[in-house]
Amino acid sequence: MRLSERQEKIVELVKGSSPMTGEQIANQLKLNKATLRADLTVLTMAGVLEARPRVGYFYKEGKRSLIAERLHRLRVDDFKSIAAAVKEDISIYDAVVSMFTNNVGSLIVVGEEQELKGMVSRKDIIKASLGGLELFKVPIGVIMTRMPNIVMTTPDESVLNAAKKLVQHQIDTLPVVESYIGADGNEMYEVVGRFTKTNVTQLFVDLGY
Ligand code: ADP
Repeated sequence: MRLSERQEKIVELVKGSSPMTGEQIANQLKLNKATLRADLTVLTMAGVLEARPRVGYFYKEGKRSLIAERLHRLRVDDFKSIAAAVKEDISIYDAVVSMFTNNVGSLIVVGEEQELKGMVSRKDIIKASLGGLELFKVPIGVIMTRMPNIVMTTPDESVLNAAKKLVQHQIDTLPVVESYIGADGNEMYEVVGRFTKTNVTQLFVDLGY
């Protein structure tokens, strides 16, 4: 069966994090539920998705290889590392020191409540150095990539989905976050870890044995 572009998107979403309710799928695709209803019916009748009442839609296993099936079931929470987090007022020099002492190539920048503010990578620091910035004086807040432009993952996302984000966005590290509503009513993201290319490589090795 040939799927429409929208149906392909639905399948990708549900593949990444089954089960999903119709509402969650609609929210992610920024469509209303009524628009999706026909697609969900088609996908369910075609046997691509399975609908379980009061639970949501599942991607139907079985057509996948064993390894794909396993990868879909593994969660970020079980493979993440401890976050190497720093505050945005530390100097670029101190960020370099922190990269060495934590043995990481990217630092997650957080606020007072561990809320995600941004990311600083090796490349940002090299760029700042070439640009002649005063490394002892300039805070990393000046050179970091900041929210809302940070690509994140959550503890219950599949490692496959998270790895796909690393590839698609050409980055090394995803902050692992849990969202909450801040004092000002805005959605905030508490950093609970990091998921990196190294975690994926380690998992690859583990799967081989
Ligand atoms: P490197 O600098 O070692 O190549 P990355 O490829 O991870 O490391 O970073 C490239 C750029 O992307 C940098 O400018 C960095 O600030 C930014 N970046 C790093 N991680 C993220 C992320 N999770 N979301 C958005 N941007 C990121």
